[in-house]
Amino acid sequence: DFILEGKGLTQCYKTDTGRVLTACRAVDVTLRKGETLGIVGESGCGKSTLLRILTQLERPAEGRLFFNGQEITFLKGESLRRNRCHIQMVFQDPAASFFPRMKVGEAITEPLRNFRKLSRQELLDKQAELLELVGLPAEYADRYPHSMSGGQRQRLAIARALALDPDILICDEATSALDVSVQRQIIELLADIQRQRGLSIIFVCHDLALVQSIAHRVMIMYLGGVVEALPGDQVWNQA
Ligand code: ADP
Ligand code: ADP
Repeated sequence: DFILEGKGLTQCYKTDTGRVLTACRAVDVTLRKGETLGIVGESGCGKSTLLRILTQLERPAEGRLFFNGQEITFLKGESLRRNRCHIQMVFQDPAASFFPRMKVGEAITEPLRNFRKLSRQELLDKQAELLELVGLPAEYADRYPHSMSGGQRQRLAIARALALDPDILICDEATSALDVSVQRQIIELLADIQRQRGLSIIFVCHDLALVQSIAHRVMIMYLGGVVEALPGDQVWNQA
């Protein structure tokens, strides 16, 4: 009953000196529908590598990946492209994700224009729905992202990531650049959206306390491996 499951995911890279570095070591990871999985670990522990495998930007050297029970480890071409739409990401610096000359409305509907054939009216309806979902005023559609606050830009990034109605949202340090009060607002927004849509979330962050406040389960990584995978409320006692 997992929406996403990785078994024994392993990834190796050759370093400049020709040494083989195991960035991800036999990682088992599971995600249920409607669940938030937190992933915590120091810089260099392999979080980004694991995310690149889960989002199928890289194929693991070893291990297998399943989406809704179907093996997706070896997908290629059009089926890979289609499957990637089910998993969307939000990054730390949303400003970097947008072309500076793209208005908020265009940024939100771009994935729909690329992947769906919708009429102009359907695009506008979807745009309005997504703005409302993330708590941005409708008239922001005509603004430029650089005129907005960091928190508002992160709301925009979430709206854009949800445009294709993905099953899984991966937040990679998505609140790390924000003030604490704004962090809270974004976390509450994510929890609201999750309740409304049954979205599954992977929340990657270096701040264990913050991860605990949103995640149902927390996975702690160290040197490419998983050292703990526990229900969120038990991590404090163990850490
Ligand atoms: P097990 O894998 O041992 O059967 P559980 O199913 O009880 O464990 O889930 C482990 C933890 O994950 C529990 O703390 C549970 O609250 C949480 N959890 C599991 N599935 C969900 C879900 N869909 N939504 C929210 N929390 C979940
Ligand atoms: P994190 O996201 O937790 O900071 P990464 O997954 O980025 O960790 O990195 C894990 C290890 O793998 C690090 O030692 C990093 O230098 C190495 N690494 C990551 N990507 C590559 C790559 N493309 N080539 C070589 N080494 C890499």
